[in-house]
Amino acid sequence: MFNKILVANRGEIALRVIRAAREMGVGTVAVHSTADSDAMHVRMADESVCVGPPSSMQSYLSIPAIIAACEITGAEAIHPGYGFLSENAGFVQVVQDHGLTFIGPTAEHIRVMGDKITAKDTMKKLGVPCVPGSAGGVATLEEAKALGAEMGYPVIIKATAGGGGKGMKVAQTAAEMERAFQTARAEGKSNFGNDEVYIEKYLTTPRHIEIQVFGDGKGRAVHLGERDCSLQRRHQKVFEEAPGPAISAEERARIGKVCADAMGDINYIGAGTIEFLYENGEFYFIEMNTRLQVEHPVTEAIFGVDLVREQIRVAAGMDMSFHQEDLKINGHSIEVRINAEKLPNFSPCPGRITQYHAPGGLGVRMDSALYDGYSIPPYYDSLIGKLIVHGRDRPEALARLNRALGELIVDGVDTTVPLFHALLEEPDVQAGNYNIHWLEHWLETNLGNT
Ligand code: ADP
Repeated sequence: MFNKILVANRGEIALRVIRAAREMGVGTVAVHSTADSDAMHVRMADESVCVGPPSSMQSYLSIPAIIAACEITGAEAIHPGYGFLSENAGFVQVVQDHGLTFIGPTAEHIRVMGDKITAKDTMKKLGVPCVPGSAGGVATLEEAKALGAEMGYPVIIKATAGGGGKGMKVAQTAAEMERAFQTARAEGKSNFGNDEVYIEKYLTTPRHIEIQVFGDGKGRAVHLGERDCSLQRRHQKVFEEAPGPAISAEERARIGKVCADAMGDINYIGAGTIEFLYENGEFYFIEMNTRLQVEHPVTEAIFGVDLVREQIRVAAGMDMSFHQEDLKINGHSIEVRINAEKLPNFSPCPGRITQYHAPGGLGVRMDSALYDGYSIPPYYDSLIGKLIVHGRDRPEALARLNRALGELIVDGVDTTVPLFHALLEEPDVQAGNYNIHWLEHWLETNLGNT
């Protein structure tokens, strides 16, 4: 096991990793920008190193600064959290070249899955069902139009390097193709430096169902069921639950095995998420995230495992501490993402927290780096906390979420908490009856949000 690891992240996910490491007796090094000197992850780690000015490019994304921080402190491994350098294959290579360990998959797996065309191709070959679409990249508008006519509209044009909901455009009809094609390309180019796009059938009423997988890097891999993350705004998840209200035990076992077998075949190491759209009883692969997800706690809650602990174990060459047959679902879990944003437009709302009180009690987990008097800097993501509840069944989890949201106090900035109070009143949310478009429609109808 490592003596000391460096956490190349900030906010709640940095705390999450520090907590797991501390329980394992592993020392921790936090890195931070000058804007984060007072941040909770800096206080909570054993040591900390300032790696640059506020801009992420010059701090949390600065590979030389992160590597230097390891060398200064003697950290042997790096946990990237999510976002920032977590899916940067070049970074993984540099980490290894410096004799350090990356707590995550290999550079090769990150590269393959980071390019959505290669990812789909690889998954198809591994027997994973995919969304029907173009065989690889689509280079010209003429080709795109021909494909649209052949597949039938609506279609979605996606940047192969895209992520975070950027670089995707829907063409409802042939007339919309030109604009959608050019915009997806332009977004791919400006956000990810790659204008290659591909085309998929646009599914009209799917759910977003993702399978949590975990591999030991030696050919053994398991799945930890699914999460339903269909409640999305601008392709960004806001409410996640496990198990999925629409997924049967047979479906879970079937798609879970397909995913676990695929990961075993490629000797995948660590945590990963295979994302699907699910419609009319069929699963369609869309992409794989080769890292810990924001919403991993709902899986931890129902399986009673610590995924970060397992990530650190396998990175240190140890075995996973569970087998597929040990993994049994217990109850139901829901997570809501609390952002410092002002409704109805979700405009970022950084500022000083004058009062913070986290909810507690049975089945409640609050992952947040907030504290009284903390000033949320304006430079980073607006996620300020994740409230995760666990109940014996879905109705109990919903009641608990309602109760816990009522206990939460975040004063000084606007947050998305009122959205969740309102959503819990909705019969469709209570019944688990929603798809990936439900929330956008609801926001439009109820908040005039477009
Ligand atoms: P990103 O990498 O930006 O997160 P994904 O490929 O994972 O992009 O897609 C994000 C979301 O976009 C999905 O959860 C879904 O809501 C929507 N989406 C993606 N592909 C399709 C499709 N073929 N049909 C309908 N919706 C889609």
